Amino acid sequence: MADRDGVIWLDGELVPWRDAKIHVLTHTLHYGMGAFEGVRAYETDRGPAIFRLKEHTDRLFNSAKILSMKMPFSKQEINDAQTTVIRENKLPHAYLRPLVFYGSEAMGLRANGLSVHVAVAGWEWPSYMSPEALELGIKVRTSSYTRHHVNITMCKAKSSGSYMNSMLALNEALSGGADEALLLDNEGYVAEGSGENVFVIRDGVLHTPELTSCLDGITRKSIIELAEERGYKVRERRITRDELYIADEAFFTGTAAEVTPIRELDGRIIGEGKRGPITEELQSVYFDLVRGKSDQHQDWLTYVS
Ligand code: PMP
Repeated sequence: MADRDGVIWLDGELVPWRDAKIHVLTHTLHYGMGAFEGVRAYETDRGPAIFRLKEHTDRLFNSAKILSMKMPFSKQEINDAQTTVIRENKLPHAYLRPLVFYGSEAMGLRANGLSVHVAVAGWEWPSYMSPEALELGIKVRTSSYTRHHVNITMCKAKSSGSYMNSMLALNEALSGGADEALLLDNEGYVAEGSGENVFVIRDGVLHTPELTSCLDGITRKSIIELAEERGYKVRERRITRDELYIADEAFFTGTAAEVTPIRELDGRIIGEGKRGPITEELQSVYFDLVRGKSDQHQDWLTYVS
């Protein structure tokens, strides 16, 4: 990834992609105290449009606040950085990665006197899941790793270090022949995927874990709103893994994963073993919206032209 043309926004400057480097004694590299976002811009008839830019920037600032990292830029500057990165790299659609990290002034856990830096990179990153996965659904395994406890890493922050748990879980699932992991919280209830929120559908009602041990996903929030607008009931509550086994449908949501059906969990086929009708409806509403093909929620899109 490091060797390509283009520019990266780094601390207020546009730096050639290959020169956007940091020192090996960068504090965040050692202890994982940093925060980031994953944002998508979709191709529309009016050029690229960033989906829910404001919400992503708000979450980035909240993450930094939770970690006590003082943001050296305003929200407006970080929003502008993201549109600039798309424009300057001439990206028709993009995955954007804002990152907040500590500098290399000192080592040690006190983190005294450290500078806070912000980078925004953007590149073309087509669907995280394959086109078949979006249509046929994916195979998921319950993880042997427990999702974060609220008093260990704090789940409202999208913090760099918390992704060690995600990577361990995902790699375990992949090496066991599954496509994704389902992580349970420390009490054994369903939390989320390694990088996605999860929904279960039973008798036409959507259920999703409450925001205790999972990230406050922006796709999750959007899907809840879109489902309710279509007359579906959505319940945020504790869910057990066997509720997924006997669900009519289940799906993951996330900026990268978008709306991905789950066809199998732990060897049990969910519903018909393929994308269910409500998942398909919400997926199609979501894709129309992000691609600027819907009149609804125009305020969720920031056009870059
Ligand atoms: N949970 C985790 C652990 C994630 O990494 C993500 C991706 N950011 C999500 C849920 C979904 O969040 P969003 O819809 O905001 O991308």
